[in-house]
Amino acid sequence: MNVLILGTGPAGLTAAIYCARASLAPVIIEGTQPGGQLTTTTYVENFPGFPEGVSGLELINAMRAQAERFGAEFRQGDVESTDLKSGALAVKLADGTVLHPKTLIIATGATARYLDLESVRRLTGHGVSGCATCDGFFYRGMPVAVVGGGDSAMEEALFLTRFASKVYIIHRRDALRASKIMADRVLAHEKIEVVWNSVVEEVLADGKDVVTGIRLRDVQTEALRDLPVDGVFMGIGHTPNTGPFKGQLDLDEKGYIITQFTRTSVAGVYAAGDVQDSIYRQAVTAVGSGCMAALEAERWLQVQ
Ligand code: NAP
Repeated sequence: MNVLILGTGPAGLTAAIYCARASLAPVIIEGTQPGGQLTTTTYVENFPGFPEGVSGLELINAMRAQAERFGAEFRQGDVESTDLKSGALAVKLADGTVLHPKTLIIATGATARYLDLESVRRLTGHGVSGCATCDGFFYRGMPVAVVGGGDSAMEEALFLTRFASKVYIIHRRDALRASKIMADRVLAHEKIEVVWNSVVEEVLADGKDVVTGIRLRDVQTEALRDLPVDGVFMGIGHTPNTGPFKGQLDLDEKGYIITQFTRTSVAGVYAAGDVQDSIYRQAVTAVGSGCMAALEAERWLQVQ
């Protein structure tokens, strides 16, 4: 096997298209969330080439069809562990299969952290979102809430002020975790109101599963109150999907794979997309790095 690609988000699929067109017969492992985070957003309006926007699922399906057209082979599986340091690369799947590719492209993405609530799971993609850049535009003139007190939440809240009539930040403590500059900007913004010492008990929706508000609990008084909002954004951080690579590749302090031009700390192993990017996290940047990883892998194979 020339190239094994892990992940079917925009990074993995772009790598697959490039590798397949280069006649490398790539094999792509599709995990538990085929298509990745893009499939959880409703509409993508910032991906170049789609002036009217495109649904996340439609975009992913088109990328996948493109990879298949050039002969990429998709296999279902969950990566359980890897051995990347003993010479030959080894990737073990949960069903016990062990694959030995000549090169490996890791595009396993990151998972936005969501509150562990049934209403959040049910309404994700229907008023509950993990990405203001993706979905903020739909809340023009409407009140929205952002959960979290770190830089991600501040960034989401500031971005949302461009569209929303009002942005509530729901934070469980009485002090923000965010950097001072971001916190100052948020606290000075006329459209933003921080709801301190409060947690979301439930996201409220009407009979058609359209978000109508959030039920908040004041952690000091235990008082409950309903706050009407049309959208709820999770800003409680992301987790890179790097479990199987711990101890095998150099990761940064947040667990992201450290790369230079998609090259990892092991020769012949590349990483693309959100698994190595805690800063931009866009479909279009994932696509770019997927292309880079494929070209790197192709060059690596040429000199082996
Ligand atoms: P973070 O700093 O870990 O903040 C997560 C926030 O979510 C915290 O305020 C935390 O509350 C809250 N939270 C976590 N779990 C929660 C739960 N179950 N219920 C309610 N609230 C919960 O994560 P982040 O904001 O994604 O930032 C991660 C890193 O990336 C940071 O180093 C940050 O500086 C960096 N970053 C930088 C920028 C920028 O500079 N523009 C933008 C984004 C991220 P507590 O405070 O009570 O723990």
